[in-house]
Amino acid sequence: MAENFAFLLPVVLTLFGVAFLIVARFGNRAALFWGSGYLCAALGFLAPLLQAVAPVPLVAMTADAAFLSAFLLYSQGLSTHFDASRHLALRLGIAAVAYGIIAYAVFVAQSLRFELFVSDIACSLLLLVALLSSWRRSGTWVDRALLGAVVFVMLETTLRTIVFFVMAGSLAMDAFIGSSYAFVMQITATIGALLLALTALASVALRIVEGHRKAAAEDPLTGLLNRRGFEQRLGEHAAKTEAAIIVADIDWFKAINDRFGHAAGDEAIREVATLLRTLAWPGVAVARFGGEEFIAYLPNCRLQDAHMLANTLRLALSERDLGRIGIDRPITASFGVAVTAAGDHTIHDAISRADRLLYLAKSNGRNRVVSNAADVPLPAGAKLFVVKDETSGPGRAS
Ligand code: GH3
Ligand code: MG
Ligand code: MG
Repeated sequence: MAENFAFLLPVVLTLFGVAFLIVARFGNRAALFWGSGYLCAALGFLAPLLQAVAPVPLVAMTADAAFLSAFLLYSQGLSTHFDASRHLALRLGIAAVAYGIIAYAVFVAQSLRFELFVSDIACSLLLLVALLSSWRRSGTWVDRALLGAVVFVMLETTLRTIVFFVMAGSLAMDAFIGSSYAFVMQITATIGALLLALTALASVALRIVEGHRKAAAEDPLTGLLNRRGFEQRLGEHAAKTEAAIIVADIDWFKAINDRFGHAAGDEAIREVATLLRTLAWPGVAVARFGGEEFIAYLPNCRLQDAHMLANTLRLALSERDLGRIGIDRPITASFGVAVTAAGDHTIHDAISRADRLLYLAKSNGRNRVVSNAADVPLPAGAKLFVVKDETSGPGRAS
């Protein structure tokens, strides 16, 4: 039975190694380390096969090199996955010192239990270093399950090696290998390897899926939400929640592109995005709606407050020095501001009103904020607040 396990483990480890390497092709570096680690561990378990052609000390040194490399790679994978400090020098130091002591145990002391003890403790220490730097960075429950599996493997390895160290001292080696303790150890080691592989694979896969989901919702130029991401966020908007919508469009942007070049135009779009990101409002969602158009959703925001915020943005943009990005004159934007109203079916009704007000801001001369009381239909008889070149909120009706 125990021999079957000895055969099964390298096969399982190889399969996991290959699975990780396939996942790594989706651009995940942690998976590359985990995959290489599992292949190294498989080699470690296969090393005894070399006994037919190589002397025992050489086989032992090969196996230990494979296991230390495996745990170096696991710990690298763990800290890479959590984007934690790598402590590479420390981990390489632990592995090198351990390998030196192992060489002493194999060639000088000629003690199998001493050799295994040092190897296992060093492997646990390598995981411990990565565990300590990754501990606070776990976000999802899958991440926490992965760290739990790491703790299990560390404790299991440490406990197993201590039990082995004590028992192998009092038992003949043949008797120990045939004992039920040895069998239980094989099982717990296998469970540890499986737990670690499954949780790491799940954690890495989830990270990749989340990366794609985030990229699908994000505008690559500015890092703001894109239209799709914005729609998703609005999907969470409860129909009864009152909200304000601010839409903005850079003025004469085509001329900016023509005069300063497309690259400078891109930088200008980024500048506006940076400014919009400063919108301090609980639950705010800001998106680039394509080209040089932006939108902000402000839950539970009154018209006056939204108007004031839009006007602050307008002033800040017009006063921004863009010499840094090769644009030697100020750029401005026009804003439309609307709030949700009792008769609205969806938040898109407020967005449409804000769009019409933005159009009005453009046709009224640009570089201004236009808002209206949402319950008043536009354009006939609309209560308009037009603010231009002043710092106050919606005080002036025109
Ligand atoms: P208005 O004041 O009426 O808004 O005038 P405008 O020139 O800003 O408006 P228009 O819609 O005519 O031009 C928008 C320009 O934005 C046209 C397009 O070349 C440019 N544009 C769209 N997307 C990008 C982008 O990602 N980068 C750059 N640099 N330019 C872009
Ligand atoms: Mg424009
Ligand atoms: Mg436009």
